[in-house]
Amino acid sequence: MNASHHTTRPATRPATDTTYLSAPAVAELVRRKGLAQSLRGIADNIHADFLRWPAFDKSARVANHSRDGVIELMPIADDRLYSFKYVNGHPRNTRIGLSTVMAFGVLADVDTGAPLLLSELTLTTALRTAAMSALAARTLARPGSRVMALIGNGAQSEFQALAFQHLVGITTLRLFDVDPRASAKLVANLAGSGLDVSVCGSTAEAVRGADIVTTVTADKTNATIITPDMVEPGMHFNAVGGDCPGKTELHADVLRQAQVFVEYTPQTRVEGDIQQLPADFAVTELWQVLAGQRSGRASDHAVTVFDSVGFALEDFSALRFVRDTAAELGLGDTLQLIPELADPKNLFASLRQPAVPRAVVTAPAHA
Ligand code: NAD
Repeated sequence: MNASHHTTRPATRPATDTTYLSAPAVAELVRRKGLAQSLRGIADNIHADFLRWPAFDKSARVANHSRDGVIELMPIADDRLYSFKYVNGHPRNTRIGLSTVMAFGVLADVDTGAPLLLSELTLTTALRTAAMSALAARTLARPGSRVMALIGNGAQSEFQALAFQHLVGITTLRLFDVDPRASAKLVANLAGSGLDVSVCGSTAEAVRGADIVTTVTADKTNATIITPDMVEPGMHFNAVGGDCPGKTELHADVLRQAQVFVEYTPQTRVEGDIQQLPADFAVTELWQVLAGQRSGRASDHAVTVFDSVGFALEDFSALRFVRDTAAELGLGDTLQLIPELADPKNLFASLRQPAVPRAVVTAPAHA
């Protein structure tokens, strides 16, 4: 090749390789790091990133709705890293053997736009949602909360249970799901956890006497899982499942009598349980409480609601965790997503390169 072809290539060109973390690789990462430690690591990253809230270029996610579900793109960036998550929500999927929620995402270098990491985010979403819920409860629930009702015992539920055990101090769980097999699966998966677990016959029975109530049901409807008669003074509600227009879990009067905390207000007004209320209904963004700018729970008798919908920053924090932990444990493969060019202005030359093997995944990046 003529030397003039290299004039646009700097002496030290950054690598174009992308680290790839498959679903089995992230499962291995969590097994080796430990589930409690992974939940703690992600919660710590979320906490640290929420304290840097003004540093992020934020937007509500882009949602494409269909009859049975939604597909969403969730981008966010600071001045160094950009991330996005692709995630769906299809409550009827489990009937045909697919997960309700499936996800993957990317971390990229803001300076160059080069994708640094492509990772599974289905398992990671369950971890980050549980870590976020626990961080919110640690901030908002009454100190000394020990008993949690867990309504909706599907894919997310074990992660919620264990995050509340390890990060909040919950010792007793009271379960309810309309599908008894889901509750039985949750009981089996929590065997040996040290949690005192019982299955209840209704949501009302599970909620009675609980300090914290987590709702993590999947149904594309304006459900009223929690009605005002179930609310007791001092309760904290962690409302996870209402996360789309037309998909809610709390009766509007439950919200009206509570202090409501949200992730990113513009997104939650459209997607959260507060979509049922006027646009001027008072809410507090959780980051402001964490940063000491706004107060949290007003008294031991106050009812608090974390109206969770899932915000892009939590995935950014979780992607940072899996990237750093994969590097520490030597996990992950190298993916050549971007053509490697001797002259970046000569993309055409890549057509002349010899054929590559069909497999796109090469040797482990950190082996
Ligand atoms: P899943 O389908 O695996 O489990 C949902 C469970 O809810 C099922 O077992 C179902 O039987 C049960 N359920 C449905 N209606 C019920 C009712 N009226 N009472 C009691 N149980 C009921 O789904 P999943 O992956 O566990 O997700 C649960 C929900 O959480 C979904 O709506 C999902 O969109 C949402 N989610 C939110 C976030 C967030 O950040 N806020 C993140 C992940 C998932």
